[in-house]
Amino acid sequence: SIHKDLEEKIARFHQREDAILYASCFDANTGIFEALLTPEDAVLSDELNHASIIDGIRLCKTNKYRYKHMDMQDLEAKLKEAQKHRLRLVATDGAFSMDGDIAPLREICQLAQQYDALVFIDECHATGFLGPNGRGTDELLGVMDKVTIINSTLGKALGGAAGGYTTGPKLLIDLLRQRSRPYLFSNSLPPAVVGSASKALDLLMESNAIAQSMAAKTQRFRSQMTAAGFTISGKDHPICPVMLGDARLASVMAEDMLSRGIYVIGFSYPVVPKGQARIRVQVSAVHSDEDIDRCVDAFTEVGRKHGALP
Ligand code: PLP
Repeated sequence: SIHKDLEEKIARFHQREDAILYASCFDANTGIFEALLTPEDAVLSDELNHASIIDGIRLCKTNKYRYKHMDMQDLEAKLKEAQKHRLRLVATDGAFSMDGDIAPLREICQLAQQYDALVFIDECHATGFLGPNGRGTDELLGVMDKVTIINSTLGKALGGAAGGYTTGPKLLIDLLRQRSRPYLFSNSLPPAVVGSASKALDLLMESNAIAQSMAAKTQRFRSQMTAAGFTISGKDHPICPVMLGDARLASVMAEDMLSRGIYVIGFSYPVVPKGQARIRVQVSAVHSDEDIDRCVDAFTEVGRKHGALP
């Protein structure tokens, strides 16, 4: 019953008809495409979608189109090409984790309407903190009623370190219960994870204070870092990639930050393209304004020491 209660709560949180739990969002992503799409249908996927979406699409025998990252002209061209199929599904991350950029969902939903397609979003980097009430990218961009399917995780902002789900139309959820292999052939979530996720959703539904404070903290970090002379990729997202270019610079600066008590990770090729090494900073609801200011000061000091700042 606690699992059923959580599914009901997830659906209510996202304002959808029903929801189904998985052991992880990776499982939710590998379980949906094969269950929903046949060789008569088509999926149109952003080229930078998460690995689990790519794997989910690999497992299914539908027609596959890959459009250039957030490129609406290319998506439209692919949608035109895909008109010959029975059903079209556009699949995108709501927010992309390496750059902190947010999918243009208004434009995607408009194209989907025009070319008769369904929209699927992966909200792992949005659930709980994007949008005025933390509902996610669809709330932030005002398209909650236009996105058909949401997959997300209980393991990131909701804090459980495990658990994932699909939420959307009841008929789709019924279908997944019958056909989705990671749901059918794997254990359900441990009760402790169900309990913590349920409480996290209660906190978010009682008040939007946490979601609002995230937006303010993100803005504080991004604007202070930019004023200090750093380039921060993406926009309005608490994933703040500090762009450095050189792989060694990113790695030694991240080490120096750690020696100052600040745990941030350097990313370089092959995780990100060559010449685009960065340190990815993730602002959290538990950071105080003082924490953020201390982090900016440390970055400034370390950046000057290694020549990333004049
Ligand atoms: N989708 C995206 C965009 C992710 O970043 C991740 C985790 O890294 C996943 C799916 C998988 O989520 P989980 O850790 O719940 O399997």
